[in-house]
Amino acid sequence: MENRTYTADAEPGDTVTVAGWAHEIRDLGGIAFLIVRDTTGRIQVKFEKDEMDDDLVDTGVDVTRESVVRVSGDVEAEERAPTGVEVVPDEVEVVADADPELPLDPSGKVDADLSTRLDNRTLDLRTEESKAVFEVRAEVLRSVRERFRELGSIEINTPKVVATGTEGGTELFPVTYFGREAFMNQSPQLFKQLMVGSGLERVFEVGPIFRAEEHNTPRHLNEATSIDFESAFFDHGEAMDACEAVVKAAYEGVAENCREELETLGYENFEAPSGEFPRLTYEAAIERINATGRLDEQLVWGDDLPTEGEHALGEEVGEHYFITDWPSEIKPFYIKDHDDDEELSTGFDLMHPSMELVSGGQREHRHERLIEGFEQQGLDPDAFEYYTKMFKYGMPPHAGWGLGGERLVMTMLGLDNIREAVLFPRDRQRLSP
Ligand code: ATP
Ligand code: MG
Repeated sequence: MENRTYTADAEPGDTVTVAGWAHEIRDLGGIAFLIVRDTTGRIQVKFEKDEMDDDLVDTGVDVTRESVVRVSGDVEAEERAPTGVEVVPDEVEVVADADPELPLDPSGKVDADLSTRLDNRTLDLRTEESKAVFEVRAEVLRSVRERFRELGSIEINTPKVVATGTEGGTELFPVTYFGREAFMNQSPQLFKQLMVGSGLERVFEVGPIFRAEEHNTPRHLNEATSIDFESAFFDHGEAMDACEAVVKAAYEGVAENCREELETLGYENFEAPSGEFPRLTYEAAIERINATGRLDEQLVWGDDLPTEGEHALGEEVGEHYFITDWPSEIKPFYIKDHDDDEELSTGFDLMHPSMELVSGGQREHRHERLIEGFEQQGLDPDAFEYYTKMFKYGMPPHAGWGLGGERLVMTMLGLDNIREAVLFPRDRQRLSP
């Protein structure tokens, strides 16, 4: 819009046109105030009824909350105004009326439950707190992309409608593709691996993954954003180094560039993790969990870590940590086993004290072993020929990982529910908006 001034930029002495939403109208009798809110903040507009044109005053005072307004006038210093300045208007226009019955209160004075907020995200993101979450999310994505570039990786985009699934155990969403059965992609795993064998060598992707799991938990979505990395000539240790660097970059970016948002969200001492993330073997992890006595049954080699076990260990460790050297049998077929012990995989998880953030590992790059892995996991290697074939034409050793974008934001901000970190979450109940 031509000649529009953001409310945050209005300085005493300026003549401005501000445009935004009618945040609040306070009619005190002889004087009335209209608070106009835009994406940068708010500004007070003052109406002195005896001194101003009646139509102008009526327009400003009768406007319904959350209507879109445009106000032109002079900016004056006023120490009693919320931002120290106010606009003395000579023109007020209601650009778009808002219904007086609002489904939620964007001033945040009345709390709305999550489902009302998700049904009305447009209004919800007019509140400072919700808006702050998505500004933080954007900064997380910006800073991880920057770090990926510093790590010498190139951003790729791979198909989301695919012929076959990859992650054992998690369910697929079928779709009809010109009369053929296809699926929504669970993970870019196979495609990013195909790219480390290409001339690109080191790649990353930020994109949606689809999991048709029926669970309905505060940390699972049916459509999530995966931050994936894969590099030729990396082993699992180097992949963990890259993972640590990227997660720290996200924290550092937010600490540096989201100070106001952090304040809005109630953080006084937000700090990026500084030390190295501890690396615990799976064996040590189950021993420590067993020693807490928090589980009814002791964990044995080969068990997946139950949520309660993750929490018990997370409380002990108290910071981000890796769990390494998982049993081969509970990691997917594409993860490479240790050369000297077939029972032991190079798979790793990065944990936040409250939940898993990342799974990764070195990959099986030897064609014959890969085919065996498919068979062991009950998958038909022929269905994956587009993938396995490329392992016959010079596939380097490689490693990588996938990081849940929403879990990163959720754990960083201490959100209770992962849905708060997604504009329009997809879960068992929610398919629109
Ligand atoms: P979990 O055991 O916690 O369900 P997973 O081991 O099935 O996760 P992976 O297949 O290892 O998940 O995916 C890598 C990462 O992607 C996870 O560590 C997590 O951060 C994220 N992720 C996976 N599934 C989901 C989901 N349904 N909702 C949100 N994030 C997910
Ligand atoms: Mg995992």
